[in-house]
Amino acid sequence: MEIHSADFLCSNSDWKKCPDLYLPEYAFIGRSNVGKSSLINSLTNNKKLAKTSGKPGKTQLINHFKINNSFLFADLPGYGYAKVSKKTRASFQEFTLKYLEKRKNLICLFLLIDLRISPQKIDLEFMEYCAVKKIPFIICFTKADKIKKREVESKVTEYQNKLKETWEEMPFHFVTSSISKVGCDDILVFILNQNKLFH
Ligand code: GDP
Repeated sequence: MEIHSADFLCSNSDWKKCPDLYLPEYAFIGRSNVGKSSLINSLTNNKKLAKTSGKPGKTQLINHFKINNSFLFADLPGYGYAKVSKKTRASFQEFTLKYLEKRKNLICLFLLIDLRISPQKIDLEFMEYCAVKKIPFIICFTKADKIKKREVESKVTEYQNKLKETWEEMPFHFVTSSISKVGCDDILVFILNQNKLFH
């Protein structure tokens, strides 16, 4: 799929104020600094669309983008940065959870995981939360360019082995890099196919 337009629509903290529901929507979430903004920019071929930053915890609002006039991206606040957190629920904004539970046009949540970091409790708990709330999600392992190809495979396997401890069925995953653009075409093809099923 060619991306010919990608426009910022709005930022807000209230799911009720999010854009109309008539377009299919794909959201991006993950721990701060995992590479959400970079992946959105890579997918849309636009270096400045979502702000990227070396500093964790920058994206604090739900940012909506309209892509090709036919679907929406939502860049969600990063989690795992708030120092006060004890539980996943307490550790990132309540409005994000409300958004996830209420947003009717949300086709899929891309849950970003840094491939180099061993499985984190907060991510595993968040996946459990998605399962309980029946929020469809796909894991996007990020920053694949930072390690060797062979290591990528062993890291993915390591992660899957951890998931097998609690999950009967493996959540679907993509391996991505915003630098080499690995995985970007696969994600866009997935989106294109999902868009066809919308309505
Ligand atoms: P966010 O907080 O999840 O939105 O993360 P950003 O997209 O701002 O990225 C955080 C940092 O990781 C930035 O310094 C990015 O340049 C870097 N980064 C993000 N994705 C990649 C990637 O695929 N490869 C490499 N090498 N660096 C990345």
